[in-house]
Amino acid sequence: MLALRAARMFDGLRLHDRAQILVAGDRIAGVDLTGAQPPPGYRLIDLGDATLLPGLIDTHMHLVFDASTDPAGHLQAISDERLLQEARAAARRALDAGVTCVRDLGDRSFLGIQLREETAARPDLGPDVVPAGPPITVPAGHCWFLGGATRGAGAVKDAVRDHADRGAAVIKVMTTGGHMTSGPDPDAVAARQFSADELRAAAEEAHRQGLPITAHAHGRGGIVAALEAGFDGVEHASFLTPQGPQPDPRVIEALAASGTYVSTCIPGTVPGTPLPPVIAALTDGARALMRSLIDGGTRVVIGPDAGIGPHKPHHVLPYAIADMAEFLGNAGALSASTCHAAAACNLADRKGRLAPGFDADILAVDGNPLTDISAIHRRVALFHRGHACRHQPAHA
Ligand SMILES: [Zn+2]
Repeated sequence: MLALRAARMFDGLRLHDRAQILVAGDRIAGVDLTGAQPPPGYRLIDLGDATLLPGLIDTHMHLVFDASTDPAGHLQAISDERLLQEARAAARRALDAGVTCVRDLGDRSFLGIQLREETAARPDLGPDVVPAGPPITVPAGHCWFLGGATRGAGAVKDAVRDHADRGAAVIKVMTTGGHMTSGPDPDAVAARQFSADELRAAAEEAHRQGLPITAHAHGRGGIVAALEAGFDGVEHASFLTPQGPQPDPRVIEALAASGTYVSTCIPGTVPGTPLPPVIAALTDGARALMRSLIDGGTRVVIGPDAGIGPHKPHHVLPYAIADMAEFLGNAGALSASTCHAAAACNLADRKGRLAPGFDADILAVDGNPLTDISAIHRRVALFHRGHACRHQPAHA
């Protein structure tokens, strides 16, 4: 049993001074803000001028993509066994960056579910995984090579139930094309996939199974379709057109009114890694879009899409948080990657907060990220479900 003491604590929503967190097993047993001594039986670790935060939660990652210039080609060239080994290493890199939970939004062969079992048994090896399994897409559609292609309302419903039976914790549906499959052509990237009937069948079955459902959607049509079908989340929400992102205020209003999670990120890259030209060309429009989404009151959580290229390694989340602080403020960016991210992952009762009964996922950083967001890179301690994780120096 541990008592972690630090100058400050951000509990997922608010900053407190002089905090002490009691950890018993894999849970938080208590939080003290009075400066009291730990109860008998607790070993005190005083982290000094540090801030305790909930472990970070990445709402959009791909453990099976290798963050190379051609993750799709690489994945198709290797066996499941090798892919699983690489996914284990990717999970480890995320954990080393302070990420204690990842929503894995598209794997092959349900490898994310296997990884979830592994890190559940050994929390020091990787973050908790919220697996989607292979994303549901149309034949030859976006990311078809992950194995989730299907067509017709009945078959889509069966696919959702099969994912649930295998242990998926979220359903991911591709409602538009995407850069990885469609290339740079914005018309192809933004093109609709699936009919309204198919998407409604997917959402109804996911909800019957008690699972949230989220849509990969770049074009306005795919965003609206997901919203009308009752999806819980939209990934990217980039409103892509041949003229770049063109946010539609009425759709943003509807996203905000419905409480749909918008899992996205701008620009969300690591220093020294240039954005691919097709993405760099969209940056100005994407920044204006992000402003519209946030000013419009949508529930933004930070999903950097780690794994899709060299600019998105699996340890990208702290950099994405620092970038998003420009739009959300420091506290807002931290909440969007802890408390709100947990809610988007259906884990609001267990993760994303430093409070009694919650999982003991605790990141300590040097200094105060509420006044200096770069403190998020200065990790001094990390606990995942109460297990001390070997400290790694910040990735340069
Ligand atoms: Zn993705």
